[in-house]
Amino acid sequence: MEYISTRGGSAPLNFEQVTLAGLAGDGGLYVPTEWPKFSQDQIADLAGLPYAEVALRVMKPFVGDTLVEDELRELCQQAYGRFAHAAVTPLAQLDGQHWLLELFHGPTLAFKDVALQLLGLLFEKFLARQDKHLTVVGATSGDTGSAAIDALAGREKVDIFMLHPDGRISDVQRRQMTTVLAPNVHNIALDGSFDDAQAMVKRMFADTEVTDRFAISAVNSINWARLMAQIVYYFYAASQLGSPARKVAFSVPTGNFGDVFAGYVAAQMGLPVERLIVATNVNDILHRALSAGDYSAGTVTPTAAPSMDIQVSSNFERLLFDLEGRDGAKTAARMAAFDQTRKMALPPEMQAAARDIFTSHRVDANDMSLAMRWAHEESAQVIDPHTAIGLSAARNADIDPSVPIVTLATAHPGKFREAVERATGFRPALPRRVGDLFDREEACDKLPGSYDAVKDYVTARATPAHG
Ligand SMILES: *Cc1c(COP(=O)(O)O)cnc(C)c1O
Repeated sequence: MEYISTRGGSAPLNFEQVTLAGLAGDGGLYVPTEWPKFSQDQIADLAGLPYAEVALRVMKPFVGDTLVEDELRELCQQAYGRFAHAAVTPLAQLDGQHWLLELFHGPTLAFKDVALQLLGLLFEKFLARQDKHLTVVGATSGDTGSAAIDALAGREKVDIFMLHPDGRISDVQRRQMTTVLAPNVHNIALDGSFDDAQAMVKRMFADTEVTDRFAISAVNSINWARLMAQIVYYFYAASQLGSPARKVAFSVPTGNFGDVFAGYVAAQMGLPVERLIVATNVNDILHRALSAGDYSAGTVTPTAAPSMDIQVSSNFERLLFDLEGRDGAKTAARMAAFDQTRKMALPPEMQAAARDIFTSHRVDANDMSLAMRWAHEESAQVIDPHTAIGLSAARNADIDPSVPIVTLATAHPGKFREAVERATGFRPALPRRVGDLFDREEACDKLPGSYDAVKDYVTARATPAHG
């Protein structure tokens, strides 16, 4: 299996190379040259298998010969052995049609653990092979930072520098990062906003004084390996609900279009997906794009579902590439125009092709609260604000009552206690596995909002690529 850039300007790479590279050199995102296909029998054979075994079978074609089967199996067992539920991503039934897919049983209570626990192990394996040192630099508004730090803490040959906007993330989110005291973890509280932090990271990726000495990499969902790991739970859930004999719909609370794109890949591979419901909050660029062809960036409105407060959805480029007939030059031109104007109109044929599988809903604060209360009152399930946006969209989607709809439960309600309490009057507890979070020592350096300060900090502490 080889990978090409959505902008057509980078040489094909294998899985090991795209995992370490993150973004393609031409600014595009890596995708496989073609989607592997599963037969009905192969899907039927997944029934009853443990999660790690489903993961092995679904990911094997993407990994190609960069890992032998036993190596991949061992990595899956190790990554998913750290989850607090034996089923890793269990289903919970809400009523006759609606289900929750609980993706929050990992160490940091959000679905990002599912992919990042594996990515941490893949990094370690590939870096040992190449005798190379990696420097991960990222900016976080909460969930990605904690999941990445947990996954990389103490790993060989990799350092992680994570910037968060000082004072603008929740106490639980901050402590999940700053109480990890491994020497390869560097937490930076930046005097500025999330956008300021993000802009510094982007500048560092383009700064040859840094990139000439250090191998800089990313852990956000532009990294193909993250999306690949997320395809697995679509197969796992559908198989439990009777696929391939039965079609299943999924509702996905969406920000960067990563998680729902993984569902799209599952469908391309042959999983009988009735529909993918793209659920957005009031930051609705994806809803406007899919319902009216209007992909134009506005300004971010902060909401109770902060991991979806996004203006531009990076992974949407992967869908555009497919909708353009996998034409890299056309996709590159489209993205260059978007970078200039912050606007893109999707032609009617592309909109129609997208609507073959996607529908979208925009969920405001009131509908989010209603969904949280409905889940609590009807089936005694406490759900977090992101999940509530998915559930609200699922309940408003016009889908045949015989088709089960699975809403992806992307975060544990304990991670967003205040918002849950405001909607339901019920304050969820933090799960026992993070119990003493508030007693642990924190390690974090505060830096002024200056690029030079951040660059000096990173280059003084990181290890050169071959050093
Ligand atoms: C990251 C995140 C999302 C959005 O996922 P994307 O892949 O960016 O669409 C939704 N919910 C939670 C809790 C998240 O952490």
